[in-house]
Amino acid sequence: MAHWRHDPEAVAQSVSQGDRSAIAQSITAIESTNPKHRPLARRLLDALRTPDEPTIRVGISGVPGVGKSTFIESFGRMLTDDGHRVGVLAVDPSSMRTGGSVLGDKTRMPELSVNPNAFVRPSPSSGTLGGVAKSTSQAMRILEAAGYDVILVETVGVGQSETTVATMVDTFLFLGLARTGDQLQGIKKGVLEIADIVAINKADGEHERAAKAAARELQAALRMVYTGHDGWVPPVLTCSGLTGLRIDEVWEAIGRHRDDLGEAGLLAKRHQQEWELTWKLVRAELEDRLARNKAVRALRNDLKRQVFDGDIAAAEAADEILRAFDR
Ligand code: GDP
Repeated sequence: MAHWRHDPEAVAQSVSQGDRSAIAQSITAIESTNPKHRPLARRLLDALRTPDEPTIRVGISGVPGVGKSTFIESFGRMLTDDGHRVGVLAVDPSSMRTGGSVLGDKTRMPELSVNPNAFVRPSPSSGTLGGVAKSTSQAMRILEAAGYDVILVETVGVGQSETTVATMVDTFLFLGLARTGDQLQGIKKGVLEIADIVAINKADGEHERAAKAAARELQAALRMVYTGHDGWVPPVLTCSGLTGLRIDEVWEAIGRHRDDLGEAGLLAKRHQQEWELTWKLVRAELEDRLARNKAVRALRNDLKRQVFDGDIAAAEAADEILRAFDR
């Protein structure tokens, strides 16, 4: 088979035929941080076909241990049984800091990883959030060109990763837990603002009652928040990724959210997201350059001492840093 470094257009062609090794190669190409590879990756992306119908892009977030990988295993199986082709991507903020990962390890989804109608791609093992956001949105295009019609983008609810993922998907699903009584855990306020659907997971066995009570309470709270707003109010469901109980209701809710957006609404949302991502990438690149900038680095320690000693104020120090950066 052609190699992307020699013939990116031919690799793009094989991607369109669903060739798994071409898909893997293409994702490697776009994840490459070597500046020489950029024009080749661009050629590859330009040669990809666009799907006839918009695909279904779903973000899935929740704290470690909430059951994301177990959920994605069953959800992916249900969808492939139903004739869908499912791509799974991960945005893992832990791997960016430490090079180790919480997400994205293939063994987390052993069944889906070998399912011929699914493609599981672990999170890039390093890079900044901006870099990972870029490669994730490009990997999404590659999978879509290869005929995957449902793309699940998984992320841990840490830092900026979920807001980044929210700007790449049509529907953002948040998985939560009800551990003791009706006390909700692992649901940060900011997350609820970006969630389109909330599902209280592990609603099985002895946990089922508590999960349902928690879901009712959260639903009531959300209705209050959304009072006077005549649009989509995120439904709060309960499900069990482990037993598969009510995961079909999560899929139905995704469909309802899509219907609520409508065709034009979906396209408008995607265009807006593309524009937001554009700026996110510019900001991320600038931040990287700032961190790497030699003049800024040379200045940093000295300036820090001056600020600590009270010799110079923050605004002046910032001006100096910017002057060094612009030089
Ligand atoms: P992740 O870190 O969010 O991906 O969570 P995992 O899917 O790895 O699950 C963490 C633990 O919770 C594992 O021991 C799972 O077996 C268990 N678990 C996951 N989903 C469920 C569920 O729906 N019900 C129950 N009872 N346990 C679950």
